[in-house]
Amino acid sequence: MNIGLVAHDSKKKLMQNFCIAYRGILSKNDLFATGTTGRLVEEATNLTVHKYLSGHLGGTQQLGAQIEHNQIDLVIFLRDPLTQKSHEPDVNSIVRLCDAHNIPLATNLATAELLIMSLDRGDLEWREMYK
Ligand code: PGA
Repeated sequence: MNIGLVAHDSKKKLMQNFCIAYRGILSKNDLFATGTTGRLVEEATNLTVHKYLSGHLGGTQQLGAQIEHNQIDLVIFLRDPLTQKSHEPDVNSIVRLCDAHNIPLATNLATAELLIMSLDRGDLEWREMYK
């Protein structure tokens, strides 16, 4: 499965720790991330991450385009709820696209853990039928 990863600056450490904790599951999947998030995940886990441009340079839109092309099966977007204003447009566009294409999306750690464990159980196999 193709997993999209984005973390706002205040959540990047959390994303690294999440990816270290679930490295075993993530290693069986393909990872796609905005530039900085991807680099930090690679550094923390030594996993290969397909990196888009940095989020503010268009990386979030690149992820959005892949969602539109049905090439992403699950998105983990650890957003910063306290600086909503500056980041709101890209969060909204990803949420909208995931809803439009019925893609599982986590915007916080609790849901991210649920999704990653359910992915490992095979609960997202139905995505293969869509592809
Ligand atoms: P980044 O993008 O991973 O390149 O920092 C995410 C963001 O927009 O904060």
